[in-house]
Amino acid sequence: YEKKLLDNIALKSETMDGHAVQLMGNIESAHEAKGVRNFGGEGIGLYRTEFLYLGVNCLPTENDLYVNFKNVAQAIQPYSVVIRTLDIGADKQLHHLDSETEANPALGLRGIRMSLTKPDVFISQLKAILRASLYGHVKILYPMITGVGEVREANHYLDRAKKELKDAQIPFDEKIAVGAMIETPSAAITVDLILAEVDFISIGTNDLVQYILAVDRINENVAHLYQPYHPSVLKILRQVFETAAAHGKHVAICGELGGDPMATFLLFGLGTVHELSMEPHSIPKVKKILRKVTLDEARKLADHAISLSTAEEVNQFITNEMRTRF
Ligand code: PEP
Ligand code: MG
Repeated sequence: YEKKLLDNIALKSETMDGHAVQLMGNIESAHEAKGVRNFGGEGIGLYRTEFLYLGVNCLPTENDLYVNFKNVAQAIQPYSVVIRTLDIGADKQLHHLDSETEANPALGLRGIRMSLTKPDVFISQLKAILRASLYGHVKILYPMITGVGEVREANHYLDRAKKELKDAQIPFDEKIAVGAMIETPSAAITVDLILAEVDFISIGTNDLVQYILAVDRINENVAHLYQPYHPSVLKILRQVFETAAAHGKHVAICGELGGDPMATFLLFGLGTVHELSMEPHSIPKVKKILRKVTLDEARKLADHAISLSTAEEVNQFITNEMRTRF
């Protein structure tokens, strides 16, 4: 790893003109939590919990989950951890949840849809997260939301989980924050309604790009059409940022685009983003770029990028701009 990059770990993650952006790590297992701090990450912006359910013969118990989440919350203290509820289906299949083979799994029973059809599994996970919330700063994130109805339904199960814990006199953080992933066009278009029911949103660009462009994120035949810099993606991102700012809510990006140093300038210029969460080793690279940006410059760059017609044009423009600046 480049020593120069590691040198900036202790530096603040802010722009040249003093705008702070929290840089966080994405993890898929508890033992990765400590590594986030080694790269200068200020928290875990996405804990993908499905790996606790994959590769085992039976479902993890509430207690197994609780112990795991508690370890992560403690390891990352005083920073926060965003625990995403089960995002099974599509590219993350789970065989013991008796899922049927689907013709279009990316459009099938995945993410929150699966949780809402299996309340026992969902409530057990929610109770484990709530119990762990006493040991650090824990937030809940719902995946694959398409509209506010699903958020309300999920929150209804969250209330049930809280009530069950209260009845059993088990303590938890009563003010635990709840967020929705914005990773479908439908959620992005109706984000104003979703924002009214959550504390924060986290934009999952991996799926958002897949669904905006109708390009399977894991199909090599169409990999050349998977274009995060497509004008349609930029326009939807800008609209989401603007709506969230109008609601005064916290906005995170936890898809790969958030960890792409080529995109840092652009994302910051498109609107207010409070947090970028990424593979931990990308944190120093993104911080390096961020520290050379001013808001004015970034806005100008983003305004021009969003006026272009094709992903190729946007890519070429960004590449040139970054080359002349860095
Ligand atoms: C995303 O879709 O951008 C995301 C962060 O979630 P995952 O990659 O786990 O689907
Ligand atoms: Mg996703």
